[in-house]
Amino acid sequence: MRAVTFQAPGEVLVADVPEPEISHPGDAIVRIDATGVCGSDLHIYHGRVQVEQGFTLGHEYVGTVVSIGDDVHGIAVGDRVLGCFQTACGRCYFCRRGLFHKCDSSRTFGHGATLGSLAGTQAELALVPSADLVLRKVPQGMSDEVALFAGDVMGTGYHAVLESGMRAGDTAAVLGLGPVGLCAVQVAKAAGAARVLAIDSVPERLAMAESFGALPVHLTEQDTRAAVRDATEGRGVDVCIDAVGHPDAFDLALRLTRKCGTVQAIGVYAERAQVHMGLLWIKSLHVCAGHANVLGHVDGVLAMMSAGLLDPSPLVTHHMSLEEAPDAYALYDRREALKIVLTP
Ligand SMILES: [Zn+2]
Ligand SMILES: [Zn+2]
Repeated sequence: MRAVTFQAPGEVLVADVPEPEISHPGDAIVRIDATGVCGSDLHIYHGRVQVEQGFTLGHEYVGTVVSIGDDVHGIAVGDRVLGCFQTACGRCYFCRRGLFHKCDSSRTFGHGATLGSLAGTQAELALVPSADLVLRKVPQGMSDEVALFAGDVMGTGYHAVLESGMRAGDTAAVLGLGPVGLCAVQVAKAAGAARVLAIDSVPERLAMAESFGALPVHLTEQDTRAAVRDATEGRGVDVCIDAVGHPDAFDLALRLTRKCGTVQAIGVYAERAQVHMGLLWIKSLHVCAGHANVLGHVDGVLAMMSAGLLDPSPLVTHHMSLEEAPDAYALYDRREALKIVLTP
C-alpha cells in the first residue's frame, strides 16, 4: 500500500509499505478515506521530534473499517469511523481516572519508536489498536473533513478551554491562530466566553477568528497589552490560551492574564524555557500545560460538532491526494495552509 514516510528533515516520500495486519483481539484495520496534515507532523518534518527514516506519518483520520479483532464490539466492518491520535489501554492507573492522554502504555500514530512505534494514518490502511476506545462512528451527515478534527485539533481546542476552568461570562485570549488556536476560539465562544481576544500576526487568520466572533488583535501592529486592558477594565483576561508553544508566547500570556487567572499552554513545548517566576508568583497565576485528553473529550466534541456549535470546516484550506504529500508538507511549512486534507 501507499504511505507517506519520513526520510530526513524537510523530506517526506510517498512509498510502498507492507499492509497492516490484526495482531491483537482489540485491533481494527481502517481503510483511510481522509487524513490530515497537522502542526505535530511539522515538528517531525523539522526534525524537532525525531522518528526513524521510513516511518509512516499522520495521526488524523477518517475511514471505513475493513476488519476487526475478536474483542472489538463497539464498531463493525463497514462502519465509517473517525479516530483519535493516540491509543490507551483503558486499564492503567491513569485510564481508570479518565486521564487517557497519560496512559502508561499509550501509543501515538505516526510518531516513531519514542511514542510506541504505531504506523501513521497518511496511508491507504491503518492498524488501530484498542479500537473500541480509539474509534467512533461518524455521526450521520458529518463530512470526512469535519469528522477528522474530532480526534485531534478540535479535541485539543476543547481540552484547552475545559482544562483552563474558563467559566461562562469570562474573557479569554487565544495566542496563536493556527488550527488549534482557531478551534479554541470556537470552543471558548461556544462555552460561554463573553469575549475572546484572538492574537496573531497573519491577517487571514485574524479575519477567520473575527468571523468566529472573536476580537482580532494584531501581535505586532497593535499593542496587545493595551487591547487586553481595554477589553477588561484594565484587569487582564481571565484565561489566556497559549496555542503557540514558544517562550515569548508564554511570557506574553503571563502578562495578559489577570491576577489569579489561568495560563493554559496547549502549544507544544519540547525544550527548556525561561519563565518569569516572579510575575507568575506575584499574580498568583494558575498554569496548566500538556497535550489534550482527546480520547476523553471526543464524544463531547462530536456532539458539539453534530449540533453545529463547533464547525471546523472553514479551517480546511486545501484538498490534495496522498501522492501529493511532499507538496502538502512544503506548503504547510510555508504557513500557506491551515488544514490540508489528503485523500488516498
Ligand atoms: Zn495533530
Ligand atoms: Zn492506560
